[in-house]
Amino acid sequence: MIEDLGSASLGEFCLRDFPLKERTAFGAGGRAKYAFFPENAASFAACIAAAKREGEPLAVLGCASNVLVSDRGFDGVAVFTAKMNAISCGGGAVYAECGVSAARLLEFCRLHDLGGAEFLSGIPASVGGMAAMNAGAFGREISSVLRAVYAVDGGVKKLPAEECGFSYRCSVFGSALPVFAAEFSLRKGFDGRLAERIRAMRRERQPEGRTFGSTFKNGKDYFAGELIERAGLKNCAVGGAAVSGVHANFIVNRGNATAADARELIEYIKKKVKARFGVTLCEEVRYLGEF
Ligand SMILES: Cc1cc2nc3c(=O)[nH]c(=O)nc-3n(C[C@H](O)[C@H](O)[C@H](O)COP(=O)(O)OP(=O)(O)OC[C@H]3O[C@@H](n4cnc5c(N)ncnc54)[C@H](O)[C@@H]3O)c2cc1C
Repeated sequence: MIEDLGSASLGEFCLRDFPLKERTAFGAGGRAKYAFFPENAASFAACIAAAKREGEPLAVLGCASNVLVSDRGFDGVAVFTAKMNAISCGGGAVYAECGVSAARLLEFCRLHDLGGAEFLSGIPASVGGMAAMNAGAFGREISSVLRAVYAVDGGVKKLPAEECGFSYRCSVFGSALPVFAAEFSLRKGFDGRLAERIRAMRRERQPEGRTFGSTFKNGKDYFAGELIERAGLKNCAVGGAAVSGVHANFIVNRGNATAADARELIEYIKKKVKARFGVTLCEEVRYLGEF
């Protein structure tokens, strides 16, 4: 049984040489040395402990919607959270495990008539990834509706939202401090019209197809997409990776992009924007593996 992993070695319970490309939203990248799909907190924690014991780098992945995996792959353990997907509610709170998708969370809110998280509609992400990234949209951040986060730190530890270090696309969580679950504080009344309006705005303003969402973070006094557009870089391409013509902060995979194409394009954009506006853009997308 996976729950009894105890002191088992990674080689005993992980998949080996696991292809990551099709698991990522962008659709590029190589293989992971190991992959594991824990189904509960015990096997999640046991995998993390085994990785530490064996000195293997660890990457906790939700929907892999914000990662660019190197074409050379990842020489470590990729832990996919999709199977930890219980969701429940009570006492004005929704409790969702890290692998619950934003779509499922919203559907649950609709069914239970709970409001406040509608702004997350259409983000192709997991609860764990959104908490770790402090995902946000339309002027709101997920931290504004989080009451607490349960992290894997040896065992599972509950951290009240104030102790989660939330700031713009940032938190204390990540592969070094994985999120097992999150508790949302919501109010009565799901606003279906708002959720639909937000999905419609996404369809209008964001490109279709394979992308990793916003490539760069916005600054205090600029929108990254606006600077990229003003630098004339819309539709600029390297190999199969191109700056979207719909929204310049999105890089799209035209079908055959490699991670190296995307990375080269990112460096090119940074160089051009720096030369034109003196602004150093900072990536929101997370790199996995060696580039
Ligand atoms: C079409 C599109 C639209 C998007 N729109 C938005 C948007 O409006 N707003 C926004 O903020 N983002 C947006 N994104 C980016 C992305 O969806 C978010 O960053 C999201 O939070 C990533 O969640 P994920 O589950 O895919 O995480 P992944 O991409 O799998 O991982 C992202 C980071 O989170 C870490 N992580 C994942 N799960 C856990 C966990 N359980 N514990 C600890 N760390 C973890 C990973 O190690 C990695 O560093 C968009 C992406 C796409 C493709």
